[in-house]
Amino acid sequence: MRTLSKSRFQKGLQCEKALWLLLHRPELAASTSESQQWIFDQGSETGRLAQRLFPGGVEVAEDHTQGDQALETTARLLAEGARVLYEPAFSFGGVFARVDILVAADDGRWDLYEVKSSTRTKDVHVTDAAVQAYAVEGSGLAVRSINIVHLDTTYVYTGGDYDVSALFAIDDITEAARAFMPEVPTAVARLQAMLEGPEPQVKIGERCSSPYGCDFTGYCHAFLPGEHPVTALPRIKDPLLHALLDLGVLSINDVPDDFARLNAVQREAIAVVKAGEPHVDRPGLARSLGGLEWPVYHLDFETINPGLPIWPGTRPYEVIAFQYSVHIQHEDGRVEHREYLHRGSDDPRPALARQLVADLDTAGSVTHYTPYERTQLRALARAVPECAAEIEAIIDRLFDLEPVIRQNMRHPRAAGRSSIKAVLPAWCPDCSYADLAINEGQLASVRYLRIVKGLADADEAEATYRDLLEYCGLDTYAMVRLLNEMLRLSRE
Ligand code: SF4
Repeated sequence: MRTLSKSRFQKGLQCEKALWLLLHRPELAASTSESQQWIFDQGSETGRLAQRLFPGGVEVAEDHTQGDQALETTARLLAEGARVLYEPAFSFGGVFARVDILVAADDGRWDLYEVKSSTRTKDVHVTDAAVQAYAVEGSGLAVRSINIVHLDTTYVYTGGDYDVSALFAIDDITEAARAFMPEVPTAVARLQAMLEGPEPQVKIGERCSSPYGCDFTGYCHAFLPGEHPVTALPRIKDPLLHALLDLGVLSINDVPDDFARLNAVQREAIAVVKAGEPHVDRPGLARSLGGLEWPVYHLDFETINPGLPIWPGTRPYEVIAFQYSVHIQHEDGRVEHREYLHRGSDDPRPALARQLVADLDTAGSVTHYTPYERTQLRALARAVPECAAEIEAIIDRLFDLEPVIRQNMRHPRAAGRSSIKAVLPAWCPDCSYADLAINEGQLASVRYLRIVKGLADADEAEATYRDLLEYCGLDTYAMVRLLNEMLRLSRE
């Protein structure tokens, strides 16, 4: 029988098929994206920092390909009397686990610490830590406490070295982890037996994205049609999805009209897809747009939210705007473009805020898409108090285009979704993010962080700045195009 690492055990808990595919058909997995790799790397950096909570420890340095050597080193260090170990390895009952930090307690037992770069302890962390404790105790050490170390969002960075005792919070999850530990041997045996058999039959559903995005989505979802799969129904949950799949319904087009379990939003999405043509509430649209004041300033921010704060005065995961784009649309059709992208490695917000209040002038609606820009403006007002009054005045001019579209314009290609990435290609099919080097916000953030952290050379930095300007500029140009379309439809 195979020994399961704790990460494979966790994968098997999320979906048996994912674990089976990982071991038998790994070539089907999607490659790790740049954004995912960045998250992994940040997790490693956080793990190394957390070791400073328990100084003077000794590291088991072997990597994940050297499991047997790591077990040997751990056994030797324990025999030599080590009191604090980083990354020790244990194997018991079909489980192989590396513990982030293991600390000897005064009573001869051990305290186990699992480090997460999250801001709180999650349910999935409990099973993760429990399987480690199971391997540790099975190897002959008594565990006194089981803990999750995570980032504390109340910590304010003051510059220089991090104060790790304030940067991290520790949650004692001994009780919850111990409650799960008796289930570990049964779960391991079940997964081991499953791995010896054929590919398990598992229904797609919420498990494909929760608690973690699955690498095999491309393979498992390939039976669905490329256009209007039932999974694209707004806010679809497992009971509805599985009921439709059991009926053989793969496309939104094929959902029976009298299907009982649909909510109003889903019924509308199905109706517009089946109709095959857009539906516009022209009076409603005209009424909504009547609230616009010209000229219209279309605003979009790009942001970063590093887990480990970069600038004094900021907290873990604080969202920091580093770029914006503004397209100014006049009633006579003229369009101007203004933008700001902070270059350099200092806090972008003071210079960005000063430029923003100048670029947005003092009159005219400031359109945005979803509440995100409002949140960013509020954060900017707090971070740059000398601009707070002007930013508050900008907040008073905000006009959100998303509810106007959601309430008045339905397009079969958007299928009930109202995100700009769904709506733009539906209403303005020539306007696309597909050819951009940076085409989504997470990647924009990662590329900018590479510059700020000194990981990008001058050529990479220049290329990134160019790509960021193109990406953010398209976001607000898209709003110009959408508003033009909305105005045209409202007047027809
Ligand atoms: S895509 Fe979904 S069903 Fe397929 S292996 Fe992943 S979690 Fe399981």
